[in-house]
Amino acid sequence: MAILVTGGAGYIGSHTVAELLAKGEEVVVVDNLYQGHKDAVLGGKLYVGDLRDGAFMDTVFGENNIDAIIHFAANSLVGESMKDPAKYYHNNVYGTLCLLEKMKQYGVSKIVFSSTAATYGEPENVPILESDRTMPTNTYGETKLAMEKMMRWFDFAHGIKYVSLRYFNAAGAHASGSIGEDHDPETHLVPVILQVALGQRPHISVFGDDYPTEDGTCVRDYIHVSDLADAHVLAVEKLRHGGESDIFNLGSGKGYSVNQVIEVARKVTGHPIPAVVEPRRSGDPAVLVASSERARAELGWKPSRDSLEDIVASAWAWHKSRPNGYGDRA
Ligand code: UDP
Repeated sequence: MAILVTGGAGYIGSHTVAELLAKGEEVVVVDNLYQGHKDAVLGGKLYVGDLRDGAFMDTVFGENNIDAIIHFAANSLVGESMKDPAKYYHNNVYGTLCLLEKMKQYGVSKIVFSSTAATYGEPENVPILESDRTMPTNTYGETKLAMEKMMRWFDFAHGIKYVSLRYFNAAGAHASGSIGEDHDPETHLVPVILQVALGQRPHISVFGDDYPTEDGTCVRDYIHVSDLADAHVLAVEKLRHGGESDIFNLGSGKGYSVNQVIEVARKVTGHPIPAVVEPRRSGDPAVLVASSERARAELGWKPSRDSLEDIVASAWAWHKSRPNGYGDRA
């Protein structure tokens, strides 16, 4: 039986594919290569195409014996989602509807979903529990919440079981050095800071220093991408053993401000990394820190790479050896 990984050529998807291959799983990847990279897929079968293309997805389901899906394929930028909500509703929400309809058609009843802390919005409590209120402050989070809710009703009506994994801030790169983060444009904090250290940007822009946090910059919970990948493998196992639908946070439980992340990167890289304060980015909550106790208890998840310095060092190893990422941009 094969696991279909949608968005498996992307950042978190490709690290999950690497973990699945290491476990001896048969892997099928679907990716439209909008942000993904062929070279990020370290094995398995890659189909290049879009979830919303029914004939294409019929080929994928027809040619493979798929028993479970890990669904990453989506747009994921907070800032962009505030400027172009239609893109997010179309690709994320409609794309997921198309996938669920194919699952129903082909009798596939297990899906692990790449969700986000952005579903919570401005948190009621820190650390955030899965039972806390979900009130997204940006379109990206709103579409991910809509996708989760769609799965809930497909479970009710058709018995499609889902595990939704709400990630906090993924960072770092694979220990082998062969895969890492490469977005165009790059907007995420850790790779953007490292681009400064590589001389590719003059400074890091700090989006707001007047938040209600200790140093005024936003606080996030950074988690190593390979620890996230491990949780997906465990979630598939849970569903294969008859597990019920569920939702889990994935984070380290520790919060770091933007200024603290910059400071750690200065230490890791030895570069001064100049910082310039700029206006707030629309849609950003002040603090997002997870409680991941349920994932540890219910999935047996044990994140093992959770010092921020180690996470930044693994990202730095990747960016230093591949300053232009996969080098496949036109
Ligand atoms: N951020 C920043 N400068 C940048 C990129 C990000 O100050 O060039 C801040 C951003 O406002 C947020 C945090 O860093 O508070 C993490 O942002 P990122 O885009 O990495 O992840 P998100 O939390 O949006 O998923």
